[in-house]
Amino acid sequence: MNDIVYLDYTANTPVDIQVLDYFYETSKKFSGNPNSHHQLGREASAFMDETTMKIAGLLNVSPAEIIYTSSATESNNTAIKGIAYEYKEYGKHIISTPLEHSSVKSVLSFLQKEGYEVDIVKVDSNGQISVEDFKKKLRDDTIIVSVTAVDSELGVTQPVAKIKEILSDYPNCHLHVDATQAIGKIGFDVNGIDLVSLSPHKFYGLNGCGLLIKKKGVRLEPLLHGGTSTTKYRSGTPAVNLAASTYMALKLALENLDERNLAVSKLNNYLRTELLKFEKVNINSPQSAIPHILNLSVEGIKGTVFQRMLDEKGICVSVKSACSTDGMPSEAVMAISGDRRNALSSFRISLSHLTTMEELKFFIDIFGQLCPI
Ligand code: PMP
Repeated sequence: MNDIVYLDYTANTPVDIQVLDYFYETSKKFSGNPNSHHQLGREASAFMDETTMKIAGLLNVSPAEIIYTSSATESNNTAIKGIAYEYKEYGKHIISTPLEHSSVKSVLSFLQKEGYEVDIVKVDSNGQISVEDFKKKLRDDTIIVSVTAVDSELGVTQPVAKIKEILSDYPNCHLHVDATQAIGKIGFDVNGIDLVSLSPHKFYGLNGCGLLIKKKGVRLEPLLHGGTSTTKYRSGTPAVNLAASTYMALKLALENLDERNLAVSKLNNYLRTELLKFEKVNINSPQSAIPHILNLSVEGIKGTVFQRMLDEKGICVSVKSACSTDGMPSEAVMAISGDRRNALSSFRISLSHLTTMEELKFFIDIFGQLCPI
């Protein structure tokens, strides 16, 4: 067993060696700028096109629907601001959920300051949005619905197909789905969704690259102004090596999805069973959450304190998502439990097919030493 027990795979995954090798190979092989009109440029451009076609094939979309970004944060910003600015003549009303990542929440707060109106739909005790409340909040001037397919704190999945169906009666409203914790982990169909964000560093790809899938016909005001890249929606020299690494990470994740999920489900079952033996433990992730994420609270101890105690013993877990503000109760846990103290005590364990039973047994052993009786 390693000295460090890493149980924070929702924040970042280690890069797969095959992804890294492919990144290295393509970095060495293609030195031209794909936009240059000479032989090396044309070679890089042809490879970039081929890579985009392969990514599109894996996601079952067309290559023109792929926008390369630097991260899911950028994808979320591009999608939401892009729609808000481009379609503002149709209205300024936006609907979202309390389970969104900070890269969605912060964009919504920013847009509120610019005069957009944001409504947050209610969720039930399992974290799923209330379809009734959603229907009630929808208006003729609603231009965006932004919903996370799987939230990063609890692992709750949302009824995206149902939301899509409801929105078919609202032609001026676009659906954006943050699928950063879904794609590469669970089966997720992007087809027919206006905008979908994802990030390969969540499935053993590299950091510094992300994708935004934009359905044909949807227009966006770009965040970055500059020359045309692979699309007009995101300027910057196309990063051949990062696109290639994204393709490899996605290919491996999708090829091994079921097998990896099965392994993670077994680990999750073991953890749940063991953790529930402790009287002071409350498991916040509903049983229906994806198995990769297990959020819990230890009564009477702040999540940040427990996380630090685990850290001192060489165990890495997270309080809220890595990108959120410290010291505040988890909004996601608050939304499903309505209990501020429980939310302040919460932290997240996240698992991978790389996690071993030995690591979890060690974790439970240390947990038992730290958890009050
Ligand atoms: N959305 C969700 C649901 C996430 O979990 C994350 C990463 N924690 C992001 C967006 C942002 O991803 P990135 O780190 O690629 O910007």
